[in-house]
Amino acid sequence: MSTFGQVFVKNNKYKPQGSFHHLTPNTPIRDADNDWKLLGVTNPRDMTYIHSYGGEAVFFESLSKKRLMATRCDSPDCDSRGTVYMPFRIHCPDCLCRNSIIDITDTAKTTATIHTFMVCERSGAFNLLEKPIKFINIEFKGVDTILMSYLAVGEPRFGQKVLPVFRTLEPTYTILDLSWVVDGTAESDLPQGFSF
Ligand SMILES: [Zn+2]
Repeated sequence: MSTFGQVFVKNNKYKPQGSFHHLTPNTPIRDADNDWKLLGVTNPRDMTYIHSYGGEAVFFESLSKKRLMATRCDSPDCDSRGTVYMPFRIHCPDCLCRNSIIDITDTAKTTATIHTFMVCERSGAFNLLEKPIKFINIEFKGVDTILMSYLAVGEPRFGQKVLPVFRTLEPTYTILDLSWVVDGTAESDLPQGFSF
């Protein structure tokens, strides 16, 4: 049995399997200024959170298949009809109708450019990205919102054309399965596990 908790759904119910909590030894907390007298103990806790993607699941599943999915309001009564959302929005924020799911992979490959960017030398806890992290805001032709992601290969600059790359080898089914490289990057220079 796996050390990590795993979950599947059957008959519309979560079916957890494996170990969802791990006993980790506590350690004493002592007072260095007062003869190392006991003040307390640490209580390490570790848990597996069951995070449901709901209507966004198709977005994450598609990344592993090298497809970038957006959404569009097609409601005939909505003043914002035809608005395209990337990042993926399940519902139209204006009329609250359920949006249509559309594939913008080809649009991304031909029209994605850097709107703005920031380079971070430090990161928060649990960071998995290589530092410095080159965060980029991406514009697409015909898309009304801007996507935040990160540039894996190349140097960011305003207006730089970028191409999406997808983690197809051992996908994590998180947003980290999507990254970007500057136009002209060779397939052999992509991060391990990623492809165009
Ligand atoms: Zn709408």
